[in-house]
Amino acid sequence: MPEPIFQPLSDKPDHPGLEQEMLARWDAEETFAKLREQNRGGPTFSFVDGPVTANRMSLGVHTAWGRTLKDVFQRYKALRGFDERYQNGFDCQGLWIEVGVERSLGLNSKREIEEFGLEEFARRCREVVVQSSEALTRGSIRLGQWMDWGRDYFTFSDTNIEYIWKFLKILHGRGWLYMGHRATEWCPRCGTSLSQHELTQGGVYQERADPSLFVRFPLLDFEGQSVVVWTTTPWTLPANVAAAVHPDEEYGRRANGEWVAVKLFPEDTFVERVPGRELVGRRYRGPFDDLPPGSQVEHRVIPWEDVTMDQGTGVVHIAPGAGGEDFELSRVHDLPVLSPVDESGRFYDDYGWLHGLTTTEAADQIVGRLGETGFLVEAGLFTHAYPHCWRCDTPLIFRLSDDWFIAVDEIRPTLLDENAKVEWVPEYMGKRMDDWLRNMGDWNISRRRYYGLPLPFYPCSCGHLNIVGSRAELEERALGGLEQLEELRRPWIDRVPIRCESCGEPVERIPEVGDVWLDAGIVPFATLGWENPQWVEEGYATGAARGLTKADLPDHEYWEKWFPADWVSEMREQIRLWFYSQFFMSVALVGRSPYQRVLGYEKMLDEQGREMHASWGNTIPAEDAFARMGADVMRWQYCAQPPERNLLFGFGPAETIKREFLTFWNSVKFFVDYANTVGFGPSWSALNLEGGLDPLDRWLVERTHAFVRDAEGAYEGTLTVAVMRAYTEYLDDLSNWYIRRSRRRFWDGDDHAPFQTLWYAIVQTLRVMAPILPFVTDHLWRTLVLDGPESVHLAGWPEVPEPNRALLDEIAAVRRVVELGRQARSSSGIKLRQPLRRLVVEGTSLDGHLEEVADELRVKEVELGPVEAVELKVKPNLPKLGPKLGKELGAVREALAAGEFEELPDGRFRVAAHELAPDEVLVERGGREGWAVASGDGVTVALDLGLDDELVLEGEAYELIHQVNSLRKERGFELTDRIALTVPEAQRKLADRHGEWISREVLATSIDVGETLEIRKS
Ligand SMILES: [Zn+2]
Ligand SMILES: [Zn+2]
Repeated sequence: MPEPIFQPLSDKPDHPGLEQEMLARWDAEETFAKLREQNRGGPTFSFVDGPVTANRMSLGVHTAWGRTLKDVFQRYKALRGFDERYQNGFDCQGLWIEVGVERSLGLNSKREIEEFGLEEFARRCREVVVQSSEALTRGSIRLGQWMDWGRDYFTFSDTNIEYIWKFLKILHGRGWLYMGHRATEWCPRCGTSLSQHELTQGGVYQERADPSLFVRFPLLDFEGQSVVVWTTTPWTLPANVAAAVHPDEEYGRRANGEWVAVKLFPEDTFVERVPGRELVGRRYRGPFDDLPPGSQVEHRVIPWEDVTMDQGTGVVHIAPGAGGEDFELSRVHDLPVLSPVDESGRFYDDYGWLHGLTTTEAADQIVGRLGETGFLVEAGLFTHAYPHCWRCDTPLIFRLSDDWFIAVDEIRPTLLDENAKVEWVPEYMGKRMDDWLRNMGDWNISRRRYYGLPLPFYPCSCGHLNIVGSRAELEERALGGLEQLEELRRPWIDRVPIRCESCGEPVERIPEVGDVWLDAGIVPFATLGWENPQWVEEGYATGAARGLTKADLPDHEYWEKWFPADWVSEMREQIRLWFYSQFFMSVALVGRSPYQRVLGYEKMLDEQGREMHASWGNTIPAEDAFARMGADVMRWQYCAQPPERNLLFGFGPAETIKREFLTFWNSVKFFVDYANTVGFGPSWSALNLEGGLDPLDRWLVERTHAFVRDAEGAYEGTLTVAVMRAYTEYLDDLSNWYIRRSRRRFWDGDDHAPFQTLWYAIVQTLRVMAPILPFVTDHLWRTLVLDGPESVHLAGWPEVPEPNRALLDEIAAVRRVVELGRQARSSSGIKLRQPLRRLVVEGTSLDGHLEEVADELRVKEVELGPVEAVELKVKPNLPKLGPKLGKELGAVREALAAGEFEELPDGRFRVAAHELAPDEVLVERGGREGWAVASGDGVTVALDLGLDDELVLEGEAYELIHQVNSLRKERGFELTDRIALTVPEAQRKLADRHGEWISREVLATSIDVGETLEIRKS
C-alpha cells in the first residue's frame, strides 16, 4: 500500500478533542490575525457588540447562543472580505453587580453597605467584574468566538461615564431633564425605584398568592351604610384617603347597607340602586383613623372612569402614597398623600403599632385588626402575577419617590420614524419596538444606589441645576477633593463639590446613580470616538477600566466610518433594554438609529421546555456542554433554531445533531478512503472543474452551486436556520443520491471524475459551513486541501456561477419518484432487495431518467401512464404542517383520518378550512389488487408486486451479495481484498445462474459449494 494521500479519518469525530486541537493551531498560526490582515482596507461591515454583564463566573449556554450568532455573521462577512470591528463589551455597573457583592459579603441593607464602607464596596464590585470578564472571555474563546480579546470595552470606564455626562448635559440644554415626585415601583430590599423598562425584563412577573380582602368603609352621613372595597395589598389600607366609583355604572345597596357595583354581583338582591355619580362626595370613616395619619384625612368617594367591572366590588380603594394611578388621582382631586413606608419598606413611626414592620409582616396584623373593628367583610387568598425585583427577587411595592426623568414626548415622533427605517429580523420584533416607543412613559434614570454611573447633577438652593458634562469641566469647577478622585464614582466623586454657575455658592452632587441602560446605551458613541478630536491609544482604559483593556479611544473620523452599525443582535428582551437605550440616546444625540439591521431571538429553555433555573438543577454550564457535546454541536443547535421560537437546549438534541453530522463525516470519510485507495490527490487548482464529467457529476456541481447560493441568501438575511435547512437538504442529495448512485464508479476507481466532483462538493461545503461549524470544517479542510490556504477561514467565500435550475428541478423530480417508489414498496412489505417487474409513474415526465429510477427501485421497467387508484389516504406531513398549523393541527389530523377532505387539482387538499400544499401531506393510494401505490406533490406511482421465479432468484442473489459484503466488513477485509467464496448446497442454483454477477459484486475469485456460507482471502 502506498503512503495515504489524505490523513485517514476516524469512524466518528471526537468534537471536544479536535476543537482543542484547532484552538491550539489557530493560536500558533495566528489565523484570526491573518484573517483581519487579509481584509484590512476592504469594504466595512460594522457590528457593535451588546455588553454582557460581567457578574457570572462562567459562560452560560444562553449567552453562548447570542455569542454564536454574532460570531457566525462576523465570520461570514470576513469570508466575503469585509473589514470588521471585533470589539467585545462588558457591562460592569448597577444592581446586578452590587447584589452579588452584597450577598458574598453577607450584607442585607443599604445601611450595612454604608457601614461596610463605600470605597471597599466599590473595589469588591470591580473585583467581580475583573474575574467575571476573565471567565467569560475563556468561555467565549472555547466557543470559537473570534473577538479582539484584550481590547474590550468596560462600561465602568471613566470615558464611558463622561460620554453619558455629555449626553445628559445636552438633554438638559433642551429642557428634557426633570425631577419628578410620584409613586413608583420600588424594591424595598435594594432601596430604590425601578424604571418601566426594568419591569419588562424576564422573570419580573411571578405568580404569587396574596391576601384578598373585602373591606367596608362606613358612610358618615348614612347610618348603617358602607362602601365595600377589594384589595390584595393590605399594607396600603392605612394610607387610604378615598374610594373611587365609576360614575356611569350602576351600584346597589344590599339589605345590610353595603354598596357594591351591581354588575359584579348579579345574583345579589339590592334594596336601592343608583348610578355611581350619586355616591360621589359621600364621606366615610377610614379603616385606620385611629392612627395619626388617617385621623387627619377627610375620606370621601370620588369618581373615576377607569374603574373596571371585571373583578373586585366596583369600588376602588385609593392610597396615593402607595400606588401609581392613585397618585395621579390625588392630583386631579386634590387628595392628601400618605406615604406609609420608608426606603426599606418599613412603616414610619407615626403609624403607631405598625411602626417598623415590613409590608409583608404588617399584612396579618392589619387583617386581624380589621376583623376586630368590624371593617372586614371577607378575607381569602388571591393568586396573581405580581412584579418582583429583577435582581433580588423581592416583591415590589409602590412608594413615593423623587426621581430624575428624561421627558420623551418631544422626541417620540422621531423615534418612531427612525425605528421604521430599521430592518428587524424577525419582523414582529420591530413592531414590538414600535409599540414600546408609542406607549413608554418618561425614562426614570436615577437609582438610589452606589456602584453605578454618578449622575452629574448639582442642584443649587438658588434654583439653578448645575450639570457637569465632562471630567475637564468637573476639574475646572471643583472646589476641592480632586486629589482623592480615583474614579468618577461614589464615594470619591461625592467629595468633590463645585461652584454654582449661577450664584457662585458651593453645591454638591445628588447621591443618585444612573440607570444601567445608560451605560450600555452610550456604547456606539463612547467606543467609537464620537466628537473626540484626537485618537488616544488605550484612551478608553480609564477609571475602573484602567489595566483591564488596551482599547483605544478613536477619533471622530473613525466614528464617521463605523457609525451606524450595519448589524446588532441580542435576545428579544433587549427590545426595551439595550436596543432601546442605545436607540434613544442615538436619536437624541444625532437624530438617527445607531443600527440598520437587528437580529432578535426568543428565549432559551431546557429540552423539556421549562425555564432554566439553578434551583431546579436544569441549567447547563457552558463548560459541561463544551466537554460533553463540543462547541460545534452547540453552535449547530443554536443555528438550527428559528429565531421566533424558544430554543429547547440540551444534551438530547445534541445527540441527534451528532448523529446527523455523521452523514457528512461519513461522506468525507468515504471520499478519503477511496481516494487513498486509488491514489487520487487533487490540487487546490482543481477547484476549477474542467471537462470529463458524467451527467451525474455535472448535476452535483450544479447542486453545489445552488447550495452555495441558497446559503448565501440565508446568511445575507441573517437567518442561520435557513443556512442549516439548505445544508441538510444538500447533504441528503450529496450522500443519498450522488454517492449512492456513484458507488460503482468510486469502486472501479479508474475514472477520476467522481473523485474530483466529490472533492469539489465537499470543499465548497466546508467553506459555506465554516462560519457555523468553525472547528470541524477547518479540521476537514486541513485533511482535504493539501496545497491551498492553510485554514478554511482564510479561504474566502466560494464564488460560483448561477446554477442550472432546470437541471436541478429535473433531478429533484427523479428523486421524488424514487422516494414515492420506496414508500410504495415499504407499504407493500416487499424488501428493497427483491427486484420487481414494473413501475408506472403518473404526473411527471422523467425525461431521460427512466433507467436511473428503475435501477434505484430495482424494477425491470418504468413506464409513464395513468395510475388507476381505488382508495386515497392522506396524512399530515408533520415537520411541515406542525409549525404552520400549531394548535389547529389536531383538528386537521382528525379530519384527514376521517376522510373529510377534498382533493384539488395540482395535488392540493382542502381540509377543515385549510388548503394544504402537496408537500404538506403524505398521500397513500390503495391500488388495484397486486399493486402498491403512493403519491405526493401531484405525482403518483404504482408498483407491480407480482413475482415470478426469475425475480425471486434475483432477489436471492442480492440477498447473498449483501450477506457476503457484511461478512467482509465483519472480518475487517480491505476494500480491495479478493476472496474465495463458499455457498451452501441450497444456493447451488443461484451460483450456477448468477455466479459471475455475484463474484463481481463481492470480489470473489471463485465460488464453491460446501456446508455453510464461508469466505477467506484468496
Ligand atoms: Zn431588589
Ligand atoms: Zn446657585
